[in-house]
Amino acid sequence: MNVEELVCNQASTIKEVMMCIDQNAKRTAFIVDDEKRLVGIVTDGDIRRLLLEGYGLNQIIEKYMHKNFVYASKGDEPGVIRKKFSDSITIIPVVDENMRLIDFSEYNENVHISLAQPQLNGNEYKYLMDAFLSTWISSTGKYVTQFEQKFAEYCGVSYGVATSNGTTALHLALAALGIGAGDEVIVPDLTFAATINAVLYTGATPVIVDIEEDSWCIDPEQMQKAITPHTKAVIPVHIYGQPCDMGRIIQIAQEHQLYIVEDCAEAHGAEWDHRKVGSFGVISCFSFFGNKVITTGEGGMCITDRKDLNDKMRMLRDHGMSREKKYYHEVIGFNYRMTNMQAAVGVAQLERIDQILDWRLALEDKYRDLFAGVAGIQMQKNDFANRKKIAWLVSVLIKEEKRDRVLQLLKDNQIDARAFFIPLSEMEIYKDYVKDCTISKKMSKMGVNLPTTSEIDEQKVKKIGALIRSIL
Ligand SMILES: *Cc1c(COP(=O)(O)O)cnc(C)c1O
Repeated sequence: MNVEELVCNQASTIKEVMMCIDQNAKRTAFIVDDEKRLVGIVTDGDIRRLLLEGYGLNQIIEKYMHKNFVYASKGDEPGVIRKKFSDSITIIPVVDENMRLIDFSEYNENVHISLAQPQLNGNEYKYLMDAFLSTWISSTGKYVTQFEQKFAEYCGVSYGVATSNGTTALHLALAALGIGAGDEVIVPDLTFAATINAVLYTGATPVIVDIEEDSWCIDPEQMQKAITPHTKAVIPVHIYGQPCDMGRIIQIAQEHQLYIVEDCAEAHGAEWDHRKVGSFGVISCFSFFGNKVITTGEGGMCITDRKDLNDKMRMLRDHGMSREKKYYHEVIGFNYRMTNMQAAVGVAQLERIDQILDWRLALEDKYRDLFAGVAGIQMQKNDFANRKKIAWLVSVLIKEEKRDRVLQLLKDNQIDARAFFIPLSEMEIYKDYVKDCTISKKMSKMGVNLPTTSEIDEQKVKKIGALIRSIL
């Protein structure tokens, strides 16, 4: 639409402005002076209020228009203009250096593509309402038990202990293993901060090691090098849906009698050697945050084959209260419980996990096709012999010198993509724990997570592909 269709002169009457707004259907008129300089804005709401207050149709608009308005300047980056939009401001005039109106910009929410909206269109609402109407809305209820049993079974493990989120799951696992001050726990450099924070909560010392260049997961050889007599555990993180080299990690852990606590927050359903991730650790931890493979809003779970650890985690999760004697606390515990309402959503999500994983993989394949043979971009590797990755957030590497331009272009087009995690080694608060990490630094400067979101369709994937290729 031509901006002229939104323009009225400051000498226009209320009636003329009303007619202008009526015709342009943009609920807005831009008011200019005789030099075509923008001097005010009027919306249909303003007109309605004027009429209700009894002003006549023939009043001159100049007295009543907004003289303090939001506008953009010629040459402003789309990202700059986008920041000016709000719930009430969805159309913004663009002016030249002399305040002359030259264009306008409109916010269109259909254009926006989010990073990871969940799919909640199965039985989620039904079970959630069932839990809600049952009045069992805290952490006792049938859905918590069902979710724990079914999710553990899905992973091929005996017990599940649902938690309030993935971070508390990690902390609960380490606490149940008795890890604390004086112990060392090895973590990969490329991960979300929760992995290392959970170690720090226990008072143990994290040891940050480098990743493999091709899988982006913890490098077993670097892990081995970092082992000392104080090392108690290692937390392999199946990053961006890619399983770690569990064969080698298990071998090293057995040699040195280390606990393996898998961080599976990004890899529900992934497999190593035909076994699901989560079935290798003495305890393994999952997250069900809104952007994970399946979600409960906030939520997490520890799974284990060991009955003693299952019991211990339940006790610690529930304030450290004795199972025999109510309100007698044996240890200093936590409240890390999941609610029945969250678990209800989880049960429904789990019913469809295979479908959700297939859908994610198909989406990743669409991106894979788009970027096949394009120089400067590389999809996450999916042809390791023993590893069956899942598609969490579709992840690619882009030439370092182009990466930030790609991110900016996507942002300007209202597409939520995201840079890889900043390696732990690059953050001040973790600097005391770092071993030599060069590969993770390199990969994190190249990595991009692309929209892997329920609202996406073929056309949007193509649009994203075309934008990225325009820079490469
Ligand atoms: C999301 C995530 C977590 C933490 O899960 P929350 O549920 O957000 O607390 C831990 N580790 C990794 C690798 C994650 O991606």
